[in-house]
Amino acid sequence: MNGSTTITILGATGSIGRSTLDVIAQHPDRFKVSAVVGGRDAETLAAVAKAVRAEFAALAAPVGHKALGAALGGSGISYGAGEQAVMEAVDRDCDLVVAAIVGTAGLAPTHAALKPGRRIALANKESLVSAGVCFMRDARAHSVTVLPMDSEHNALAQALGDNPPESVERMTITASGGPFRTWTAEAIARASREDALVHPTYSMGSKITIDSATLMNKGLELIEAHHLFNLEPSKLDVVVHPQSIIHGLVSFWDGAVTACLALPDMRVPISHCLGLGDRLKLSTRRLDLAAIAALTFEPPDLARFPALGLARSVLSTGGVLPTVLNAANEIAVEAFLNRRIGFSAIAEIVGRVCDGFSGKRLKAPESIAEALAVDEDARRAAQALLPRLSKTAS
Ligand code: NAD
Ligand code: MG
Repeated sequence: MNGSTTITILGATGSIGRSTLDVIAQHPDRFKVSAVVGGRDAETLAAVAKAVRAEFAALAAPVGHKALGAALGGSGISYGAGEQAVMEAVDRDCDLVVAAIVGTAGLAPTHAALKPGRRIALANKESLVSAGVCFMRDARAHSVTVLPMDSEHNALAQALGDNPPESVERMTITASGGPFRTWTAEAIARASREDALVHPTYSMGSKITIDSATLMNKGLELIEAHHLFNLEPSKLDVVVHPQSIIHGLVSFWDGAVTACLALPDMRVPISHCLGLGDRLKLSTRRLDLAAIAALTFEPPDLARFPALGLARSVLSTGGVLPTVLNAANEIAVEAFLNRRIGFSAIAEIVGRVCDGFSGKRLKAPESIAEALAVDEDARRAAQALLPRLSKTAS
């Protein structure tokens, strides 16, 4: 590829945002940064904007306007705060948008980023879980390629290569198993916030780290894979692989299986997306299989990790249920992080809220507004369950 790629980063101050900045810093001549977007931390956003010499910085929290201005003082970087500023960031010219806001908060800006001639590197899996049908429909309508940045999906894309879709029999994503892989059900039920925030192989934001502990993350990823690769649910699988070296496997109709291996480092899938077809040289630790010695695999235990089973069944049923599952999970994870509920209550809340919606409104949301309305209803239903379940909090 010739010339530079202009990038906008949504969620620039988070874990994926920081890893993206590191890849960009390793290739200063190849990338220009148009806009950076953050949630509420004005100082960090200003530091990021200055480090990459962004043209524009937008903070989602309107109250941060003054602090952002002060922190950017003298840099010449224009800025804004609030929803409109986020949309202004998304509107500015660029070739590639890195979508790395956490949760449903990322849905509207990521969807607004779908503009002809652009590519979207998608880390914000919740957008696809909540509104996958209309998101992918609109991406196709605008001829926007969605590049999978989530490590498993990026591995699947690499393992798939140019093989025709009809030759694919199965796609398998791997799970580390999270911090409670070897814990008994009783111990898991008593797990604290601190226990759950220790991920065995990755360092990530708190929401996805809790999702990894419940295995809801793998459930969200099955739904994500369904939309990204247009593959029916029965052809999607999860296998627990504690070393997190193989990230995704594609099984073909001739019995061959291709896989993508790398050390667990998000800069690897990020650089694959940012390269837009070129492989960028990346300074990271290299894989040494002899030193690792053994790669092991086991089936996920749905009895100890019911969130994965819930997500799988919601994927099969479809309709509004994936939107509901995602919204209820966000409320439950937040309540767990705030020590309002115990660990097992997360899946319990999600299950009960999904039950309340099953049989109702069977069609998947046809617009982002519709998805956000269902999301709002499901959040309310989940909030209503919190007082009853809060006594089990540790
Ligand atoms: P994080 O919590 O570290 O960062 C989240 C980012 O979103 C921050 O920049 C934050 O300021 C911003 N943000 C939060 N609320 C916002 C709002 N209302 N408006 C605008 N910005 C807002 O999270 P993360 O670990 O970087 O994950 C980001 C996304 O990427 C998630 O969807 C996650 O599932 C996905 N993902 C992360 C990893 C990983 O290794 N961290 C891997 C795969 C996928
Ligand atoms: Mg992943």
